[in-house]
Amino acid sequence: MRIDLASVPGRQERPNEDWVSASARASGAGALVVLDGVTPPAGGDGCVHGVPWFTDRLGGRLTELSGSRRDMPLGGILAEAVRATADAHRGTCDLSHVRTPQATVVMVRWDEVYVEHLVLSDSVLLLQSPGGEVAAVLDDRLDRVPREVLRSVAATDALRNAEGGFFTAAADPEVAARAVTGRTPRGGVRALAALTDGASRWTDTFGEGDWGECLAVLRKEGAEGLIARVRAIESDPARPPARYKQHDDASAVYAEF
Ligand SMILES: [Zn+2]
Repeated sequence: MRIDLASVPGRQERPNEDWVSASARASGAGALVVLDGVTPPAGGDGCVHGVPWFTDRLGGRLTELSGSRRDMPLGGILAEAVRATADAHRGTCDLSHVRTPQATVVMVRWDEVYVEHLVLSDSVLLLQSPGGEVAAVLDDRLDRVPREVLRSVAATDALRNAEGGFFTAAADPEVAARAVTGRTPRGGVRALAALTDGASRWTDTFGEGDWGECLAVLRKEGAEGLIARVRAIESDPARPPARYKQHDDASAVYAEF
């Protein structure tokens, strides 16, 4: 088992709002958790703590439960972690605020029999079969929102964790039912990777290669290598200016069985 991970802030002067963990046990079981905290636009989020406080608690709880509660499905673990995190600031913060701290989620848990996964919002999970084919597991609800809508804070807020919009892990445990989940026999997975959108842009925004080529870069150059490639493209003066952030927090985990 080989696991390689990296997480790089978009800008040095801002805290990294991504959160990544991976665990591997002697039994051959293991898990990984990747969160991308959503940066609130100006105007506040009703929370006195901030996004890194939120992702520390949510990610920590998801990691702990992935190991200790192997009887619980990943959706149940996500619901429980969201509930516990909400309880930690219910008394001090307005959790009904539409921009209450929130994050995208990728979780993978494996043992000798199955590889289970959960994806919520726009982070990416790649699964490679023993034959080499790479499948991307995506929750594409955010992609289906027209670009012009996402330029308006008010219009985006109206779709945030709302029917017909897109869903993130915030303060409502019910969101777990919206996640894309599944499982694959362990023998059907040779390698896998989880990427926040700051890293997946190598494929889905810049079109430097397909998902299979992205996984090949991770294997050969590691998570840091993929993120370095993204940063080099973003800094290329010949490129047109980015539509949103020039550099986003970027995280990648690569695991090979
Ligand atoms: Zn708070």
